[in-house]
Parts: sequence; structure tokens; C-alpha cells
Amino acid sequence: MQPRDLSTHSVYRAGRGIEEVARELDVDPDELVKLSSNENPLGPSPAAVEAIQQHASHSHTYPKSSHTDLIDAIAREWDVSPSQVWLANGGDGALDYLARAFLEPDDRVLVPQPGFAYYPMSARYHHGTVGTYQLDKADDFEQTATTVLESYDGERIVYVTSPHNPTGRELPRAELLALADQTDDSTLILIDEAYAEFSETDSAVDLVDQRDDIAVLRTFSKAYGLAGVRLGYLLAPPTWADAYERVTTPFAASELACRAGLAALEDDAHLDNTIELVRWAREYMHDRLQPPTWPSGGNFVLTAVDDAQAVAHASKEHGVIVRDCTSFGLSDCIRISCGTREATKRAVDVINDIV
Ligand SMILES: *Cc1c(COP(=O)(O)O)cnc(C)c1O
Repeated sequence: MQPRDLSTHSVYRAGRGIEEVARELDVDPDELVKLSSNENPLGPSPAAVEAIQQHASHSHTYPKSSHTDLIDAIAREWDVSPSQVWLANGGDGALDYLARAFLEPDDRVLVPQPGFAYYPMSARYHHGTVGTYQLDKADDFEQTATTVLESYDGERIVYVTSPHNPTGRELPRAELLALADQTDDSTLILIDEAYAEFSETDSAVDLVDQRDDIAVLRTFSKAYGLAGVRLGYLLAPPTWADAYERVTTPFAASELACRAGLAALEDDAHLDNTIELVRWAREYMHDRLQPPTWPSGGNFVLTAVDDAQAVAHASKEHGVIVRDCTSFGLSDCIRISCGTREATKRAVDVINDIV
């Protein structure tokens, strides 16, 4: 017995956990600074932690009211109808629901290169085929309608990340509108706003109500510090009706995730502190890193080095874990997440010493 032919599928390789690296280096995890996964340096919202603790004893029940309440709260947050909120097990789960709802076998999608690894994976799981559009280092990874349209050929879904991971670059709103206008009526533009809280640019969420060919992805993993809880959602045009109900897993998010999300949405102080810290760290890295950096709207900075693997390795030996971008196709770049002030300063010192 064998599963179906999975040879075209690739495996998602997450950055290694801090405990793993600590064991390898034989040091205390507290001595390490992990700036490789764009996690929140302030940790989760304390209100979310309290909510998880409080509701732990309800874990035996299905998340009925909390699931509905969270969808309603997200809808209020964005001024959309609850039926437009596709709650999911992380933003990644929402990508799966989208592919499930949209792709017929062999439908094509278009993803950025370099880009987020889960777009093509999710599309392939749902029997889609994948093409890429290039974001060129020579153009400083600039994102415009043209960079996408040069590779566009009627694909069903075009994935756009803004702010983009791993480059940090953004797609200006006028370019998004131009892109949506110049693609076919049957093409959806998925705007992935996983890092949008850190950007100075307005969200594209209002466009979701105005047209039927743009959807927006958001997550609690980054600005809300709930990456371990797995909670994200897609905001869909009202015209898609009950598509979500027809493709979702029963109870897409867990009781504890929903409780954490509800509490986190109320915790403005934690969100504001996070954004302030990230913007400080971004500026600090742009100003102080000796190797060149690219402008970033996210909670990380992409930096050019000669040999990403060597620099990431040496940095780890000094207790600072950064992301070697070779797996993104950028063997001469590292991505450094914004840390606490102390961690960010230490990372900059270590990287400057190495290069
Ligand atoms: C982190 C991230 C997501 C969402 O991650 P989840 O933890 O599944 O919510 C989506 N897109 C990009 C580009 C990301 O970096």
C-alpha cells in the first residue's frame, strides 16, 4: 500500500526551535536569541494567556460559542459581515480553505519567487499547478502590478504578500488595484497581510467589500504573538456567499485558540507595544547593520551578505539565530526578525562582527 504520488510535493521546513539549537550548542536556551521565525519578541498578549488558563477546564467541549464570538469580533474589527470571515487554524489553514474553495483539478496559480513556501504547497495539495513571478534583487525586490503581470497567464489565484516575506517590500495600493483590474474576471488576488500591523500602509480589507476579486489573509501569529496557538483568517467578498461553510473543517479553530484570539483582540496595549518595538528595531537594523538592507514593512529585515549559510552558522555560534534565506532562493541574504531592544542590538553587533 502506498499513498498517491506525492513526488511533486515538498516538505515545509520550519526554522529550528530554540531548544533544539541550545541542545546542539550545549548552552542554556536563555542564552540564545532567536530571530529566525518572525515571532513576537514580547511574547503573547498577557490577556490571551489568562484566557487560555481560564478556559483550559472547558477543553472537553467543542468550541461552539467561542468560535462564533471570535468570528463576530473579527467582523466588527474590520466592519465586514461575519459570513465574510473564514476563521482557520493559522493563516496557513485559511490558505488551504481558499484552495479548497477555488481550485478545480489542474487549475493554475501564480506565486512570488522568492516567497512564502506554503502557497505552492497548499495549491498542490488541492490538485492545482503552480507558476511563479519573480521579485528581482536587481530591482530591490520591488512589487508592482507589472512584476506580476509579466508572468501572469490567466491563473485562478495570484498570491501577493504585502509586506512581503522575506524581503519586507510592499505592493502599493494603486498597484494592487491595477493588478486586479488587469487580470481576468475569474482571477482572484489573494493579499497576504500577515505582517500588515507593522506597516505604515493601509490594509486592503476595505477593497474586499467593493469588489469580488480580492481577498485578504490575516493572522494572530505575528503582531498578536500567538504563533503557537495557530489562529488566522481570510476576509472574503460578500458575494462568495456560503463557500466557507461548505469547505471548512468542523470547528476550524480550537476552544483555547478562540478564547486567546478574543482576548488578544481586546488587548490594544500589547499590540501597540509590539508595533512600537518592531518599528524601533527595524530602524535600528537599517541604521546600524553594516551590510546593505532593504526597506521593510514587516517585523524583520532582509540583509545582503556574501554567504548566507556561513553567516547564519557563525551567528548561531555566537548565540544569535537568524534565517538563512537559501531556501527562499537567496543564498546571499539573511532575514533577521525584530527582537527586543537588547536582542536586536546584540544581533546587529554579532552580524557586523562576522561580515
Ligand atoms: C507567518 C506567515 C503567514 C501565516 O502564518 P500562520 O502562523 O499560519 O498564521 C502567512 N503568510 C506569510 C507570508 C507568513 O510569513
